[in-house]
Amino acid sequence: MIPAAFDYIRPASLDEACRVLGDAGDEAKILAGGQSLLPLLRLRLAYPAALVDLGRVPGLRGVEDRGDHVFIGALTTHDEVLRSAVVREHVPLVALATATVADPAVRHRGTFGGSLAHADPAGDLPAVALALDCVFVARSGEGEREIPAAEFFVDYLEPALHPGEVLLGVRVPKLGAGWGFHYEKFHRTAQAWAVVGVAAAVRVEGGSLEEARIGLTNMGPAPVRARAVETALRGVAPAPGGNGGAGGSRDPLRDACGEAAEGTAPPADLHAGQDYRRHLARVLTYRAVRAASA
Ligand code: FAD
Repeated sequence: MIPAAFDYIRPASLDEACRVLGDAGDEAKILAGGQSLLPLLRLRLAYPAALVDLGRVPGLRGVEDRGDHVFIGALTTHDEVLRSAVVREHVPLVALATATVADPAVRHRGTFGGSLAHADPAGDLPAVALALDCVFVARSGEGEREIPAAEFFVDYLEPALHPGEVLLGVRVPKLGAGWGFHYEKFHRTAQAWAVVGVAAAVRVEGGSLEEARIGLTNMGPAPVRARAVETALRGVAPAPGGNGGAGGSRDPLRDACGEAAEGTAPPADLHAGQDYRRHLARVLTYRAVRAASA
């Protein structure tokens, strides 16, 4: 289909972008890589009066090591994130999840910030941002503000950004020594979108889980931080002896992961029903925690 008519504005600076967006209010939409927004326009699920393309705004792109955290600029493409040695070394969970996003063509256009600002519960990066307790940095004509990940994903495709507010980038905390990470995703062969995904960050001490942080992809109208299973995992040995619970022997890790879908309201669609998604959340959490612990 063909999108409804819109004005196309390409500001040359952040100040200009904020001014244009402030004047337009909720009549305008920000355009980054266009990989999610353009399909919505073509389907006429969105019909903004203006698109404000951030492509020429300097300073929104790149990865910086800032000591206790890594700052990823909103316009950094998925491909640039994947090629960043800083990301791989200090925030590897971001790299693990990004590697599963779509295909090379989408990863060359789609951006880190666009994926998060789109707030799609089926997107892979929101679960990572939740598990790592990232901080979102946004700017409007009224100034800059920080939004913790726990408050950023309000509802389906609804981030906590005000109309016209530009996401500048995201502070991704370095969790330091002793942490392990894994992103486990179940998707259909023909497409990369997660039926369910699990982002896990765990810290093992003395053979048991001292701390586990779990973010879930596609398990609710918004991305989910799975607090119940995090509590259940505390103190559990991630590497059971014997046969890992098969054939009747107990596997406390598998028992704890039974809590993974607690409190979630997964969608039911042509890919999976709610019960199957809950089952996937439990199984994938088990796999993700084991892999992260290893
Ligand atoms: P855009 O499409 O330009 O924008 C998306 C939304 O975010 C819009 O509402 C826009 O206004 C807003 N926005 C963008 N940047 C900012 C900003 N800086 N400040 C404020 N608001 C902003 N994603 C996955 O996670 N996993 C997948 O497996 C996956 N598969 C895909 C397969 C295909 C075929 C396609 C087309 C996309 C897929 N995606 C997937 C989505 C992809 O990751 C997109 O890159 C991403 O969702 C949006 O990024 P974008 O830069 O293209 O944003």
